[in-house]
Order: sequence, then structure tokens, then C-alpha cells
Amino acid sequence: MEKERVDLPLSEIPASWYNVLADLPKPLPPPLHPSTGQPLKPEDLAPIFPMGLIEQEMSPDRWIPIPEEVRALYRIWRPTPLIRAVRLEKALKTSCRIYFKNESVSPAGSHKLNTAVAQAYYNKKEGVRRITTETGAGQWGSSMAFACLQFGLACTIYMVKSSFHQKPYRRSMMHIWGGEVFASPSDRTQAGRAILAADPETPGSLGMAISEAVEDAVTHKDAKYTLGSVLNHVILHQTVIGLETKRQLELIGETPDVLIGCVGGGSNFGGFAAPFLPEKLANPKLRLLAVEPSACPSLTKGDFAYDFGDTARLTPLLKMYTLGHTFVPEGIHAGGLRYHGTAPIVAHLANLGIVESKAYTQNAVFEGALQFARTEGFVPAPETSHAVRAAIDEALKDDGKCIVFNYSGHGHFDMSAYDAHLAGDLEDYEHPEEKIAEALQHLPKVG
Ligand SMILES: *Cc1c(COP(=O)(O)O)cnc(C)c1O
Repeated sequence: MEKERVDLPLSEIPASWYNVLADLPKPLPPPLHPSTGQPLKPEDLAPIFPMGLIEQEMSPDRWIPIPEEVRALYRIWRPTPLIRAVRLEKALKTSCRIYFKNESVSPAGSHKLNTAVAQAYYNKKEGVRRITTETGAGQWGSSMAFACLQFGLACTIYMVKSSFHQKPYRRSMMHIWGGEVFASPSDRTQAGRAILAADPETPGSLGMAISEAVEDAVTHKDAKYTLGSVLNHVILHQTVIGLETKRQLELIGETPDVLIGCVGGGSNFGGFAAPFLPEKLANPKLRLLAVEPSACPSLTKGDFAYDFGDTARLTPLLKMYTLGHTFVPEGIHAGGLRYHGTAPIVAHLANLGIVESKAYTQNAVFEGALQFARTEGFVPAPETSHAVRAAIDEALKDDGKCIVFNYSGHGHFDMSAYDAHLAGDLEDYEHPEEKIAEALQHLPKVG
């Protein structure tokens, strides 16, 4: 009988994270200091991050041991199941095999908790008492609130204003887990007040919320900032996804032909795909496919350039595919994919031709999500649905291949998006080329 679901015992929770920096065919372009334009030194990051995470950000080591305190929390939901989507395969009448790695089983409902508990742990270890962070759709804020609660840290969350009002129940989760939540831009920070003065009606953006959270951290001694995606240490923590997936595929004698994930900042895709880099380098036929929304097409239409991670230009300059730090995407329902940039690791792999990318508009994505929900039962997050759509399109090629995608999270707090799609009220939005070109003119001039 074919295996429809592969579970690993608790003892197979990975003991180390995999650091892809050790295996890159060309070194990653370094992050630059925002005012000098010089390569960043570890001490430059000390005002916002604990040393434990800064070391991981720049580490050359291939394997980094996972602290026992973090593995103890991973035991709440890891290892996550790898499931074969046999009912979806049947509905598509495909000869392909489709598997998904189910990261939605964490308490917060997404992969984000994999790094949240690790980041809270290193902050706690170095005497930090309060964490500041931003959140878009609320998945990151809720994950960080839960992680802080586990380690006795306070948690201040700047939530993008449009989502603050659109997703009240994610706010409730943050409150349940003890987080304090503010709609961003807020009047609590200089960055927020400046943005509000220029545009009182702004729906907010991740770039703006990051500016507020960073400012809050650097102006308070006992506080540090955490980021839920983009950075190397975040992708490092997320590699538990890919490491488990590799083991699960091996147990059933499968070799993947294409690995698919959605990309906002790039953490779930990076953590899922990076552990397969050695296989990809040995076998160029293995495909790594990153999927993004047409409304925020950083990989497919952005420039590969140094840019700020936030609107107020407080963060280091990162070499990434970017739409410009001034870019404010349309209020699509995949709030977690509305980021102007991408993880440097994912961008670098895309630039080297190792990762390929593809963009979809909302209605195509939700049609895929419905087909998945009606066959496999699980209702995917709008973000995750991008990976679902791409997996379906790969399966429709009917070429007998093995497709594996990362099911980054569930959509239980996104019912208004499903309602809008079912009522035919969802607009397909492609960000206009002239607006992209305009935003790209504001890229900082370096090197
Ligand atoms: C945040 C989020 C994403 C996008 O973020 P990445 O860093 O690109 O992974 C995707 N899916 C879900 C469920 C999320 O919560």
C-alpha cells in the first residue's frame, strides 16, 4: 500500500539547524551599514539583536545545535506530518504524486513558531525583558506573543493598520498570549508620527511597522527587536521543515522533482528548500519553485539590488530582489506576502538560477485553495494557497513527477477572504509596471 502520511517520532526532531551559507556556490553579498555603506560588523547589530542571533546571522558553520529548551518547545507540535494529497491527485486525474509538509499544526497555525521560540530563547538568555516586533496579517505577532509567554518576556507588537482592522481574531490571539498590540503607523514612535503627518489615511505596511518596532527597541534599554522573516538566522531556524521533509521522503523511498513554497520574506520557502541545496547542486534537474502574488512581485519583477528593509531607512542594507522600500502594495488578502523585499539567501539563490519564481493573482490562488480544501479538507492560509496553486499547475502537466510543497499555515482566521472570493468580490491585482519603476527610483545608491 502507498504511504499516505509519514510521521516521525519525537526523537527525530532535528538536533541541529542547517546553515545553507556553508554550501552556497558563491558567497552571499554582505549586509551594509545604512549610513556608511560599509559591510556590517556584528557590533552594529547589537542594539537590536542579542549576540546569540547575530553570531548565527554570520556563522560559517554548516550545523548549529538546537538548544534543548527550544527542542522542548518544538515537541509541542514537531515533527510535523508529511501528507500525500491522494484525493487532490485523483480530482486532478494526474499521474504526479503530490505531498505537502503540514506546518499548520503549530499552536499559532503556521511555520513562524519555529523561529519565534528560538529568538525568544536567545533574547531571554542575554537578559532582554521585552521584545518589540511588527506583524502583517498577525501570524508573526501571535507566534512571537506565544514564544515570549513561554520565556517570561513582554511583547510589544506593531500591527499593519489595514490588518489590525481586517483580522481582529489574530489580535485576540496575541492578547490571549499576553502581547500588547498597536495599529501601525501609531503615534508612539517618531517614525509613526512622521508617516501619519504625511498621510493620515495610510493603510500601513510592513516596512512602516518595522520602522516603529526597531525605533521602540533602540530607544529602550531592556528591549530588543525580532524579525519574523528575511534574515539568515530566521531561515536557519526554519530549516527544521526541510530537514524533516528530507527524512520523511527518504523513509518512503521518494525523490522529489520539484519543491514549492510561497514567498513573502522568504522564510518558509527558504527553510523548506535550503536543506535540499546539496541535492540540487548534484542534480540540476531538481527544481526549487518560489511563488509570490502578482500584487507584490519582488522576485519576478523587482531589482536585485541593495535596499533598506523598512520605510524609515533604519535597517541595514540588504542585497535582495526588491520593489523599493517606499513600495506600498495593494491590500490583498495574503497579508503575509505584502513585503517589498526578499530574504538575501532566497534572492541570491534566485540570482544564481538555483531558485525559479512565479507569480499569481488572487482569484487563481483562491480557486486552487478551494480545490485543495474540498479534496484534502484543510483550508489553507491565503499565503499558503500560492504554493497550493503552483503545485496544482505542476500536477496538471501530468508528467508523473514527485511534487512536494510546504503547507505553511492554515486559513482559519482568513474566512473573510474566502467569503469575498466565493461572492465574486475579489479583485485580481497586478502591480502596474510604472508604479514599480517609480518605487525602484528610490533605491539607495551603493557600490
Ligand atoms: C508569514 C507567512 C508567510 C510568508 O512569510 P515567509 O517568510 O515568506 O514564509 C507564508 N505563509 C504563512 C502561513 C505565513 O504566516
